[in-house]
Amino acid sequence: MNEIIKFEDMPLSPEVLRAVADMGFEEATPIQSQCISVIMSGRDVIGQAQTGTGKTAAFGIPLLEKIDPENKKLQAVILCPTRELAIQISEEFRKLLRYRDNIRVIPVYGGQPIDRQILAIKKGVQVIAGTPGRVMDHMERRTLRMDSVKCVVLDEADEMLDMGFREDMEFILEKMPEGRQTLLFSATMPAPILELTRLYQNDPQLIKVVHKILTVPNVEQVYFEVKESLKLEAFCRIIDAESPGLTLTFCNTKKRVDELVELLQGRGYFAEGLHGDLKQPQRDLVMKKFRNKTLEILVATDVAARGLDVDDIELVVNYDMPQDEEYYVHRIGRTGRAGKAGRAYTFAVGREINRLREIMQFTQAKILRKSLPSLNDIEEIKTQQFTEKIKAVIENGGLSKYSALVEKLMAEDHTALDIAAALFKQYLFDPDASENGDELFVTETAARETAAEPKKKGTEKLFISSGKKDKIKPGDIVGAIAGECGLSGHHIGQIEIFDNFTFVDVPKAYVKVILAGMKNKKIKGKKIHVERAKAKA
Ligand code: ADP
Ligand code: MG
Repeated sequence: MNEIIKFEDMPLSPEVLRAVADMGFEEATPIQSQCISVIMSGRDVIGQAQTGTGKTAAFGIPLLEKIDPENKKLQAVILCPTRELAIQISEEFRKLLRYRDNIRVIPVYGGQPIDRQILAIKKGVQVIAGTPGRVMDHMERRTLRMDSVKCVVLDEADEMLDMGFREDMEFILEKMPEGRQTLLFSATMPAPILELTRLYQNDPQLIKVVHKILTVPNVEQVYFEVKESLKLEAFCRIIDAESPGLTLTFCNTKKRVDELVELLQGRGYFAEGLHGDLKQPQRDLVMKKFRNKTLEILVATDVAARGLDVDDIELVVNYDMPQDEEYYVHRIGRTGRAGKAGRAYTFAVGREINRLREIMQFTQAKILRKSLPSLNDIEEIKTQQFTEKIKAVIENGGLSKYSALVEKLMAEDHTALDIAAALFKQYLFDPDASENGDELFVTETAARETAAEPKKKGTEKLFISSGKKDKIKPGDIVGAIAGECGLSGHHIGQIEIFDNFTFVDVPKAYVKVILAGMKNKKIKGKKIHVERAKAKA
């Protein structure tokens, strides 16, 4: 593995270190390890790494360290291909700036009214993340002045070129002061990119995350496409359906580990977390429990799992997509040891599917797509397990005490068959399962395919804690539900907007998806709460 440097060992301010710790980053990713000090030193950099490897913080951390809060002029410009990225970058920067006051970061992108952006810029902004077209627009209107810019970043430069931003980028770069630092990040290095670096960078250092090819252990590798908001449900279904024995689950941050552990414990699983914040005795205790199997699920970060030495882990789950190909290999190498069979499951959300392709390319291994077990599958498996158990109990004998109980019931005119069936039902019946179909896992495509005809007829009214006073319009409701939950607009029925709240009719089959998908979401900037509407008294 490339040498990993701890954030604490980099020349960073205590404020940034604290923010990074709050974000739950345990250690720097490979591209961060290599970039941060070089960028701090002032040198131009060409960074080449795949998506999802932490490039935003790789340039963000050193760039923000150099912003002078006393100077209210624009000091850094990040160009990126899309508005989503501009927003994401600003958000990540704001998190990094949590303990530093007086530094303003805003995203600027096309589509948003320019007047509003001009107002925001006039208040004084030191960092912008924007799309080239809109940034150029502001330069031409003289609402953005580049004369005190110290650092320019071209993020996803190859994408920007593909999207036809070349001229805009050149226009912007031409106007940048001499002597500023120029950083360029790109997943690929085609000729036009090299041309840009030749024209606009000054003796750049190429930083590329290179990988040793590692042998991938012989384990069954599978991935599931899920939405972020449904990962927990997906994970629980897998555990329920497969009862996999010792399971090691990976999250990308300490925070995510703690959150998942709490949710799993809340659902009655024996789960505990392992990460760098644990003191050695706590760590030893968790490991001891895992080894002697009082713990079924261990949730860990990459760092914490590194020293882990347990032979009979049956299943590894990548709850979060690993940020580096090598992490993937290390993670899945925790199972299938000592000649035992092992499985490795990976959750892929949205665009992460591309990372999987990269991982497959790097590892030369096939990762098969599977569907999540349906509730029917789980029921079938539970039934089978229960039936096996019953057979074993009969075999072991010692039933006379219980036979007497059955005889007593039979004397009351119940048949032996009814009594046995009732016991089965009592054990196996899951009231949730019969009501909630597998629509929980409609992916966006599947939702569109089934959109024409929801499987279950009938609608249900939902209550949303936002109304006319919050300037909510029907379109906002449709947009939020469709966007967050992967449904299509015409699933959504009548919408009644009152002053303080709203009712919306949705297909019964999607109620759970929507309740899960809308948890902690905002509409028009206001955090909302969605629940089943209560019947009128
Ligand atoms: P890229 O720009 O390379 O596609 P991002 O910068 O968007 O990747 O990072 C992907 C995700 O990884 C983000 O959610 C980010 O917060 C997270 N991340 C970045 N650095 C670390 C780290 N050192 N440890 C854990 N998570 C990280
Ligand atoms: Mg990025």
